[in-house]
Amino acid sequence: MKVAVVGCGAIGSPLIMQLLEDPAISELRVMDPDIIDLSNLPRQPWFEEQDVGRYKADRLQDYSPERITAYAHRLTPRNSAALLGNADAVFDASDNWEARRTIQRWSFISGRPWIFASALRTEGMAAFLSPETQCLYCLFGSLQQGPRCFEAGVLGPLTLAVAGQSLLLWQEYRENMGDPARWPQGLFLVDGARQTVRKIGMKAVRCAHGS
Ligand SMILES: [Zn+2]
Repeated sequence: MKVAVVGCGAIGSPLIMQLLEDPAISELRVMDPDIIDLSNLPRQPWFEEQDVGRYKADRLQDYSPERITAYAHRLTPRNSAALLGNADAVFDASDNWEARRTIQRWSFISGRPWIFASALRTEGMAAFLSPETQCLYCLFGSLQQGPRCFEAGVLGPLTLAVAGQSLLLWQEYRENMGDPARWPQGLFLVDGARQTVRKIGMKAVRCAHGS
């Protein structure tokens, strides 16, 4: 199984470290144009002081050079075929709506699912998206780029909670891969101030945005 993770920051890097533990994943493609900054170190112990200035994607590749393919690039519509290509699934940890629209387009074309994730200030979101069930546009309509977490700030542990929620959605999908009716639906809201996870349900949606 080939899995891509878009973004190697506070959501993406813990996701990558966890996905490495899954022996069914033979290839993990990781991509991020950013370099490691001193401010990344306190909550991301897989980055160390001597890594400051290196590309995050390259550093994470060191943890499993035979399974991880690293790209020090931002995902764009132009490079999406090369970067996502024949992945079986994609995790979004991009903090970027252009990248999310690009992943959604890849999902419509490839027919493969992806997991949306975001964290801003004290509020996180995660959703499992697939052409058979619901897409980004089913959830959000037409999208505007809101403030990004590096501009607005984010509650530290919230990014781990969102990464964990993404992995729970992934597990639910993995256990029911042959049965789309049992794939996770709706949008999960993680409230870091109240420590709650709430699901906004979608009523038996059958996405028609991709056709
Ligand atoms: Zn849709």
